[in-house]
Amino acid sequence: MGAAWRGVRDLFRRAGIDTAELDARIFAEVAFGMDRLTLVNRERDLAAPDHLKALEKLAQRRLRGEPVARIIGERGFWGLAFRLNDATLVPRPETEMLVQRGLEIVGPLDHPKILDLGTGSGCIPIALLTEFSDLSAIAVDLSSEALDMARFNASRHSVIERFETRQGSWFDPVKPDERFDLIVSNPPYIESAAIETLMVEVRDHDPRLALDGGPDGLRPYRAIARDAAAHLTPDGVLLLEIGTGQGKDVTGILAASGFNRIEVGHDLGGHERMVVARIEPAS
Ligand code: GLN
Repeated sequence: MGAAWRGVRDLFRRAGIDTAELDARIFAEVAFGMDRLTLVNRERDLAAPDHLKALEKLAQRRLRGEPVARIIGERGFWGLAFRLNDATLVPRPETEMLVQRGLEIVGPLDHPKILDLGTGSGCIPIALLTEFSDLSAIAVDLSSEALDMARFNASRHSVIERFETRQGSWFDPVKPDERFDLIVSNPPYIESAAIETLMVEVRDHDPRLALDGGPDGLRPYRAIARDAAAHLTPDGVLLLEIGTGQGKDVTGILAASGFNRIEVGHDLGGHERMVVARIEPAS
């Protein structure tokens, strides 16, 4: 078995894949139907021919630029496994920053309610739901396929009773009098024209709908900013993921919609990654 996955690793290395060893091991686990430990213990055993064939198929897809998460249909986020389909973005590690901030915001509250706009796999609200048993979430997405996946993930992580999905555009499926302690979103924020310049893994394998933020990449922020204030509790917080360099523009959009306490947060790479916005009453 060891010889098989190391062969794949070497192929990946020659193709310039920098996670060659990790990818090869993950594929061997999937193709051989074994967990990590079994694979290590059976290092010297010979792999069965049908297992080898399965491994080769996975490796070929990787060599054609498909990301591992797409091939195995799953990605870890906040220590939880999220199932993916064609309608969901692969959850990114940077997005865990929003979960971290979300925890700080809803943690002190009693029975907090959150709204996630453009939920995709449901990774953000589901991660938060697993942390607090009195939290409930509504997750909105344009895609019913994404919502199916989000519900599957919520069941898998035993939070489905507190997780509601609604199909539609941004606040359309939210009732006029519904208010939330936290409204969160990792919306599509890539400028339409820049999508062709992204790495193959993203450009060819993530859903366009989840990437395309319109001509200037800011369209979703305008749509969210327009209606967010009407759906926040008096102390409610709006938490948005942004792309590098969008801090100033998004701050401007939110300020024009009445937000007066706006903060831009940076990720570990030092890039602008999120905006936290509130409305404080004039004193
Ligand atoms: N909210 C989902 C995520 O963070 C989807 C984001 C998106 O499709 N832009 O993965």
